[in-house]
Amino acid sequence: MTIIDGKKVAEELLEKMKRELAQIRERGGRRPHLAAILVGNDGASETYVSAKVKACERVGFKSTLIRLSETISEKNLLENVDLLNRDPDIDGFIVQLPLPKAFSERNVMEAISPEKDVDGFHPVNLGRMMLNLPAYLPATPYGILQLLEYYKIETSGKHCVVVGRSHIVGSPVSVLLARNAYPGNCTVTLTHSKTANLKAITQQADILIVALGKMNFITSDMVKQGAVVIDVGITRIPSGQSKNGTRLIGDVKFDEVAQRCSFITPVPGGVGPMTIVSLLMNTIKASKMNTLKAAKA
Ligand code: NDP
Repeated sequence: MTIIDGKKVAEELLEKMKRELAQIRERGGRRPHLAAILVGNDGASETYVSAKVKACERVGFKSTLIRLSETISEKNLLENVDLLNRDPDIDGFIVQLPLPKAFSERNVMEAISPEKDVDGFHPVNLGRMMLNLPAYLPATPYGILQLLEYYKIETSGKHCVVVGRSHIVGSPVSVLLARNAYPGNCTVTLTHSKTANLKAITQQADILIVALGKMNFITSDMVKQGAVVIDVGITRIPSGQSKNGTRLIGDVKFDEVAQRCSFITPVPGGVGPMTIVSLLMNTIKASKMNTLKAAKA
């Protein structure tokens, strides 16, 4: 059994990006610029955004964090989105999810220019992804693909079962793994809370991707011997042993499931670090497009 070391892969990819950026700078190119809007002061969202800002600093990107109070109106939030859409110095930006309940995430995602939508949540990017056209891929599914590729995991002809059908993880990863590409060419079963007899389905998975947000949900009796298990889930629980007073638990009961797997991602240190790297990879791509656009204008 191999533990997929997302932290190590992410480090390598960040170093590679750093070198690529150094070459761009030597040729007189500009630094990619990522902006993030954070509404309210949800602790987990703060942590995710600050990890993204830190990763930008690490590779030499510019980053801008816009903090907005959760008492602002949706109109005001949309005005901020519009400002970023029109700012030529910003290559890409994200609005950290989840938004406080008063806001429509769909309205906000649709207001982001598809060209700057480095989270890949805009319908244009999701549609382009469906058609296998160049697009910004949603960061977490993109990170999963990169892990499968790094570990040279065979996907063609495999049965991939995805647990959870969210727009940001389960649904897009199921589309990507069904594509005629590598990683891809899987036969995919997408499951959700209304799926009957889930265990009988997960037991058939050669590749099991779990993204439902219920800690330790997948137990060893739900997993086929030799399966590849990708655990996306993150549940934060109080812990006296960590610096920030919390620790992260995945959706997979790691200790018992690991014994049946060929590959497994841990939580933390599996998919999470790759999500951030993928966001930065989308940003560098957006920056190249922005530079080309400026040269043509
Ligand atoms: P959502 O809450 O948006 O979706 C959860 C999905 O799980 C839904 O489709 C739901 O089904 C399904 N589900 C819930 N209960 C069951 C069940 N008993 N059996 C089968 N399916 C079930 O979650 P997200 O996709 O946004 O996130 C999932 C997890 O991944 C969370 O823990 C989140 O924190 C984590 N995450 C981690 C990231 C990372 O970088 N590592 C990035 C993004 C998310 P239904 O549609 O029927 O309600």
